[in-house]
Amino acid sequence: MNEELGTGVWEERWHPLREEWIIVAAHRQDRPWSVETVPHEQQVLPPYVADCYLCPGNSRISGLVNPPYQGAYVFDNDHPCVGLNAPTDLPKPTGIYHNRPAHGIARVVCYTPRHDLALAQLTTTEVENLLATWQCQYKELGQRAEINHVLVFENKGEVVGVSNPHPHCQIYATNFVFKTIETEAAVSARHLAETGRPIFQEIIEAEQRDQTRIICENESAVAFLPYFARYAYEVFVAPKQTRTSIVEMNDAEVQDFAAVLRETLIRFDNLWQMPFPYVMTLHQAPTDAQDHRGFHFHIEIHPPLRKPNLLKYLAGPEIGGGNFLSDTSPEQKVMELRAQPAQHYTANPQPE
Ligand SMILES: [Zn+2]
Ligand SMILES: [Zn+2]
Repeated sequence: MNEELGTGVWEERWHPLREEWIIVAAHRQDRPWSVETVPHEQQVLPPYVADCYLCPGNSRISGLVNPPYQGAYVFDNDHPCVGLNAPTDLPKPTGIYHNRPAHGIARVVCYTPRHDLALAQLTTTEVENLLATWQCQYKELGQRAEINHVLVFENKGEVVGVSNPHPHCQIYATNFVFKTIETEAAVSARHLAETGRPIFQEIIEAEQRDQTRIICENESAVAFLPYFARYAYEVFVAPKQTRTSIVEMNDAEVQDFAAVLRETLIRFDNLWQMPFPYVMTLHQAPTDAQDHRGFHFHIEIHPPLRKPNLLKYLAGPEIGGGNFLSDTSPEQKVMELRAQPAQHYTANPQPE
């Protein structure tokens, strides 16, 4: 080991799903940080807020009133970015440019009537019920002829622009396939054709052989901080068997997946004893009637923070060049998550 470099990793790692290089430059720990201060989100929230548009019984901007729902509650987004009623009479652009109607369906899924809880604080049964809701949504929206992809995602925390802490995610069911999924689908199909195996199976196999980056697992589900992580605390959660979407998972697999997802999110919150901000996205096969047998459903969680008050800046390499520069090594960051207890820090201690 080169003394000057210490124990940090300094290399480029190949991202097999995105087919791009990640520069891992974790040998520069003493380098001065270019920092962004992130305000701590430690305020205590009430279980119900009268002017929250997601709490049960409240009216929304559209004038519609939320029912006194239990469990998860789905409704059409009152400010949709894509809609079936989007304008069709569009101005024709010049030359090489072209456009089309922003057709799609945008929905909101409230995880729970409780304003003050995060996904990590729901019971395993409640997380299972949320997965069942996601299954229904993917099935219902995906089978519509005009919908080619169903993107389910949660933005969590003020640093990713969420002003309302009521736990919820969004669904964008669109007439196009989002770029990352399009790339993953193409890579997965090619790999299956060339090798006869889903590429994600090989990723799981490599992580299981190595063992060092696995956060938690059970019989049919696994969470790991991948070898090729672009963000310091990036985590993938996946079923061990290839399922092209959440719909293909049976009840036992849903239970296992819920347990591993929940434990991962608890470990995130425990890390700094604060609600851990992230962007969480379900990566599922497109619903464009193509053959996606090689696509392996997984959830990707991208936390924007490197430290409690340090934001990962996207700058020249990422925005300008399109490849990520990581200042941390996945093998070191995962140790922090592995060291956390599997019970949420806000939970009451078990009675003796
Ligand atoms: Zn609320
Ligand atoms: Zn993915």
